[in-house]
Amino acid sequence: ALQIRDVRMAYGELDVLKGVDLDIAAGTVTCIIGPSGSGKSTLLRCMNRLVEPKGGDIRLDGESILVMKPEKLRRRVGMVFQHFNLFPDHTALENVMLALTKIKKMPRQKARRVAEARLTDVGLAARGDHRPASLSGGQQQRVAIARALAMDPEVILFDEVTSALDPELVKGVLDLMATLGRQGMTMAVVTHEMGFARRVADQVVFMDEGRIVEAGSPQQIFDNPQSERLKRFLAEVL
Ligand code: ATP
Ligand code: MG
Repeated sequence: ALQIRDVRMAYGELDVLKGVDLDIAAGTVTCIIGPSGSGKSTLLRCMNRLVEPKGGDIRLDGESILVMKPEKLRRRVGMVFQHFNLFPDHTALENVMLALTKIKKMPRQKARRVAEARLTDVGLAARGDHRPASLSGGQQQRVAIARALAMDPEVILFDEVTSALDPELVKGVLDLMATLGRQGMTMAVVTHEMGFARRVADQVVFMDEGRIVEAGSPQQIFDNPQSERLKRFLAEVL
């Protein structure tokens, strides 16, 4: 579904992506791993144009996203962040509804039904009237995932969505993501959770210094790493 070709990106003088090629097939989960500062978040952000690549191309079902209207792109490519980014003055249900009424221009009645269904999917049917502050971090993150799902996107991007959570809340969110993957959602997941990558990913991508150093199945990446850089990284994190 996504074809990334020779994508380059710089912040001022700093080259952050130095020519990235990556294919993400429809219905597959791609986990992106690598050291801090290697460009993982920047690559995800390029995929829905929160930042503009300086070169190369990204195609979604054959259509270049670089010439797509941002509103259309955001409907088709959802994103979930480390810090939830929920609106604090709105309830969980309203947070999910807002994207539907504002971006999809859905009537409130229908948006409410869709939002309730997606909150049910993430196990929060009974929490719709809570504001974020009265939900646990794990519940807030599941609201953020429900909000992304409500848009019915073709791809969802996850950027370290469990990194800010208390350890006991991580599993619930990872289990939900694994379920979405099994249901055939196309996902690109930046994560430090190597167990999740090994269990859930169809493809694991190792980035370092703005490049993809190795990509392959979880078995290839974790059990048979080729490059010294990946071997060193795995020795540090596993
Ligand atoms: P982490 O694992 O710490 O989240 P990452 O792999 O996601 O790291 P990026 O956030 O993509 O890395 O950052 C890549 C490089 O770009 C880093 O050197 C970072 O300092 C730099 N960078 C990121 N965002 C900006 C910005 N807004 N302005 C300037 N430099 C930035
Ligand atoms: Mg990052």
